[in-house]
Amino acid sequence: MKQMEEKILRDGQVLPGDILKVGSFLNQNIDTVLLGQIGEEIARLFAGDHVTKVLTIEASGIAIAAAAGMAIGAPVLFAKKHLTSNVDGDVYSTVVHSFTHGADYNVVVSRDYLGSEDRVLLVDDFLANGHALRGLIDLCDRAGAYVVGGAIAIEKCFTGAGDKLRAEGMRIESLAAIEAMSEDGIVFRA
Ligand code: 5GP
Repeated sequence: MKQMEEKILRDGQVLPGDILKVGSFLNQNIDTVLLGQIGEEIARLFAGDHVTKVLTIEASGIAIAAAAGMAIGAPVLFAKKHLTSNVDGDVYSTVVHSFTHGADYNVVVSRDYLGSEDRVLLVDDFLANGHALRGLIDLCDRAGAYVVGGAIAIEKCFTGAGDKLRAEGMRIESLAAIEAMSEDGIVFRA
């Protein structure tokens, strides 16, 4: 998606540790024009897939998932993160290693909101090592829900995690796919 790539080149900041900072337009201070375009693009990519629910993980995926859900016309569900393993029985739960915090979280959704009748589109801001996405897939498996695919705002292709998921048969669509990045520049996948 051209607008996303241009925004990353203009306002993204590459930090040590292979972190791309996008707080000025996506993660903290949100460019709502871009957000609307992201939602429309995700809806276009998954048109015809009969998505009944958009699923993300708190916090940074929520805005993107909401934009996608509005454009698709489907409800948005976000999995909550808890540091403790103290989760009650009314939830589907899995463990996800957080890229940004370096800790393991219990990630839960209420059983009331996800079920075997659902066709789920997974949405997140970044795909790095794939832990967040695999956690969401696990929650859907536990609920018996069907995963139509994943829509990612920014994929860091150089980790190989997105291509591994594709090789396993998962449809992954990235709006910006970064092949390489350093302080000297960012190269997108052609
Ligand atoms: P993964 O689970 O695929 O390793 O990492 C994805 C999660 O880590 C995303 O939900 C995102 O919040 C965070 N993340 C991964 N890489 C980056 C990055 O370069 N910049 C920012 N801001 N967040 C990232």
